[in-house]
Amino acid sequence: MTLIDHYAVFGSPIKHSKSPRIHKIFAEQTNQSIEYNAQEVCPEDFSSAVTTFFEHDGKGLNCTVPLKELAWTYADSKTGRAQTAKAVNTLIKQNDGSILGDNTDGIGLVTDLINNHNLNLAESRILILGAGGASRGIIGPLLEQSRHPIIIANRTIEKVVNLASEFLHENTIKGCGFDALKGQQFDLVINATSTSLTGQLPPLPNDLLAKNAVCYDLAYSNETTAFVRWGQQNKALKSLDGLGMLIEQAAEAFFIWRGIRPKTAPVIELLNRERNLA
Ligand code: NDP
Repeated sequence: MTLIDHYAVFGSPIKHSKSPRIHKIFAEQTNQSIEYNAQEVCPEDFSSAVTTFFEHDGKGLNCTVPLKELAWTYADSKTGRAQTAKAVNTLIKQNDGSILGDNTDGIGLVTDLINNHNLNLAESRILILGAGGASRGIIGPLLEQSRHPIIIANRTIEKVVNLASEFLHENTIKGCGFDALKGQQFDLVINATSTSLTGQLPPLPNDLLAKNAVCYDLAYSNETTAFVRWGQQNKALKSLDGLGMLIEQAAEAFFIWRGIRPKTAPVIELLNRERNLA
């Protein structure tokens, strides 16, 4: 009898998650015997649902909106990058039964930008829009890459100033409101607000993009997101959405769980082809 290891993604809403499909393709590609399901879990039920999952032989979990901070609290121990992010998207059951929390969002984004889109992050002046959970996950890995100070703009200024101050020892990060962006230009603008989910945009000046700038929306959809459209209208060299990041963060989680790294390029190509047909 072949033993199947169990994995899942918890979140709310979760119905449209692409993670089960991505992990199924990774498992086929690498000959791993796993099952990966999506489960609707609201914050009130999170702790008991995770405990039940791991008590019933679950090996690893992904946690998505709005559960990443709760997963951080739940984990018995955290990796350095999860500790910095104060948000966990991957839980791993250790041999001693304890639960380790990691955050693969940041490395997923950086891998997509560098490996799949050939961006030179070291030389890019980077602007991050938004100061929520996703922003927390990507700041550390982006700071490791960039030689320029990173600017984060957010609607609630107090929140972004506090977030930037957590990374202040890096001395390369500044938090501000959207008004403060007037007169500044960037090579890479990353939308880590949730505005695209409702078809909205943060209030952005029209001259924000430097020549050959790249726009990247962490949100992804079968339709062009509002921020990707804004990038196209403002003559960005590339205006990308977060499907590549989703697949790269999943590959990192798969590697942590299974010790084998799946190839992401064919999965990105397949999912892009499917949504172009949708
Ligand atoms: P959070 O709810 O934690 O944060 C939302 C952020 O958006 C806050 O900074 C909030 O500002 C801002 N915001 C919301 N509405 C508006 C508005 N009308 N105008 C301006 N700013 C606004 O969400 P997450 O950080 O978890 O997620 C952000 C996005 O990233 C989502 O679209 C999510 O799907 C995507 N994501 C994609 C991933 C991928 O793999 N591709 C991985 C993780 C996230 P304020 O502080 O003022 O409320």
